[in-house]
Amino acid sequence: MSEQTKFVLDESRIPKCWYNLMADLPTPPPPVLHPGTLEPVGPDDLAPLFPMSLIAQEVTTEREVEIPDPVREVYKLWRPSPLYRARRLERELDTPARIYYKYEGVSPAGSHKPNTAVAQAFYNKEAGVRRIATETGAGQWGSSLSFAGSVFGLEVEVFMVRVSYNQKPYRRALMETYGARCVPSPSEYTNSGRAILAQRADHPGSLGIAISEAVEIAAQHEDTKYALGSVLNHVLLHQTVAGLESIEQMAMAGDDPDILIGCTGGGSNFAGLVFPYLGLQLRGGRSRRVIAVEPAACPSLTRGQYAYDFGDTGHLTPLTKMHTLGSTFTPPGFHAGGLRYHGMAPLVSHAKELGLLEARAYHQRACFEAGVIFARAEGIVPAPEANHAVRAAIDEALHAKASGTSPVILFNLCGHGHFDMQAYIDFHSGKLTDQDYDEGELALALSGLPSVKA
Ligand SMILES: *Cc1c(COP(=O)(O)O)cnc(C)c1O
Repeated sequence: MSEQTKFVLDESRIPKCWYNLMADLPTPPPPVLHPGTLEPVGPDDLAPLFPMSLIAQEVTTEREVEIPDPVREVYKLWRPSPLYRARRLERELDTPARIYYKYEGVSPAGSHKPNTAVAQAFYNKEAGVRRIATETGAGQWGSSLSFAGSVFGLEVEVFMVRVSYNQKPYRRALMETYGARCVPSPSEYTNSGRAILAQRADHPGSLGIAISEAVEIAAQHEDTKYALGSVLNHVLLHQTVAGLESIEQMAMAGDDPDILIGCTGGGSNFAGLVFPYLGLQLRGGRSRRVIAVEPAACPSLTRGQYAYDFGDTGHLTPLTKMHTLGSTFTPPGFHAGGLRYHGMAPLVSHAKELGLLEARAYHQRACFEAGVIFARAEGIVPAPEANHAVRAAIDEALHAKASGTSPVILFNLCGHGHFDMQAYIDFHSGKLTDQDYDEGELALALSGLPSVKA
């Protein structure tokens, strides 16, 4: 019997099209609303922020969207990404489950985010844009877009949440190495930033605030657009290369996943892995368990409300219907910086309402314990965000052992943790604690949800 552990595709197998779940959904997701009129937004409303090609991808219901050749060329730097069978982890857990993972940490920035950053930079360049403004939390998205900007010759300006800016100098250095400008947010450069600083000069910042600042810069400058690293339909679309490749690689392995797992911040790496599989199911194929894993300290899918909300704290963005903790919710400090967003991708939220997926939340210590078990067995140190998926995969494998079943588990190992070793240092020294969000703060944030007629 073959003991193969690594399943690799030739670069000619990089998908030629992204997969669009919209084409196969039984009902479309609710429309995106204009924040002023509360009417559905049209392409012109979004034109100050995004190039028309990306706006078209945001609303298309075509099943396959062609990947431009220049994007596929850049993808060749690391795609197709490898898929592994975690044989040593299986032995360590003594489980009858077969565990596979798709590894997206092989990209230049070390995560799945360049899959969309490269595409977004390409379309912006094609539209004659000179500069892209964006936000970043822990720095993963900022460094991915900085890399993509350097490839296509675009200026990139990154508003980085101030606590991360101070805590994560290496991510900032990576952005600057790629030639981007990185500014701590809230900043003095925008009205939104100045308004926050007037209330509290030492404000630590949040993703919602940083988004407001980047959107404001893009809206005010003709030559500048905005880019978002998760949540939006076109971002989820670009991430489907991971799931499309996985379908081929699982066939090479001669296995078919029963359980699909991804961690969810805004939902993009999760959607990238699972949407192509959900498409197979919706077109008449078999069903699988699909599990979204989020931090207990920022639990939008498990504790949020499914409601219209703003994407940012300054309320400059359109309203989308999603699982949300409220746009003013500030989660407690925990290490999976990429999972600190108050909302969930509208498409992931809609799929949850349709019963296509389940969600669960874990505290961070349990996730780091899982990450360390994984690293010792498989050699790869997962990003703190990815540890949530690792925890769920290990729990499912242990459950299989206890219940005498032998499911095939596939999860997205969406990034490595090489820039997050301080979190591992804290974990090893026992300093990493489980933090709960403040129920009062959540209630307050939810009470501030915009009122939109059903
Ligand atoms: C940004 C990030 C996430 C969270 O974003 P999603 O859109 O939910 O994927 C998760 N993991 C890593 C490694 C990230 O960089």
